[in-house]
Amino acid sequence: MRLARVTSLRPLAEHVATSAAWLALVVVSALGWYATGRGLAFRLGAPDLATGVGLLCAAIVVATLFAWARGDAEARSLAALRCPACRGRLESRHEHAVASMPGRQLWSCSACGFGKIAPLTCPGCAA
Ligand SMILES: [Zn+2]
Ligand SMILES: [Zn+2]
Repeated sequence: MRLARVTSLRPLAEHVATSAAWLALVVVSALGWYATGRGLAFRLGAPDLATGVGLLCAAIVVATLFAWARGDAEARSLAALRCPACRGRLESRHEHAVASMPGRQLWSCSACGFGKIAPLTCPGCAA
């Protein structure tokens, strides 16, 4: 734990830089899609709906980007065997493919009960 505390500055800086980049991407995308949706509504002859359509487009983009960022963060946590929910240590187990079922990878956290199963075929899996 002490080692983790000493070296935690670098991941923190990376986290801040990544968050700032994500925030910039979200803001730029939301503004761009707001303008696009608004312009489209105007062009289609619905100026009363323009602001609403623009906001709807921006909201969809923001929701999509957040879902993307969350999936990205979860994938990185799983790869590092760190629980995405509580940051505890994850147990990982692989089940080879058998005739009736494809190979899969299982992750579980004994601290908080987090669990995830993903299809994964390794070189040792039966074809
Ligand atoms: Zn396998
Ligand atoms: Zn956990």
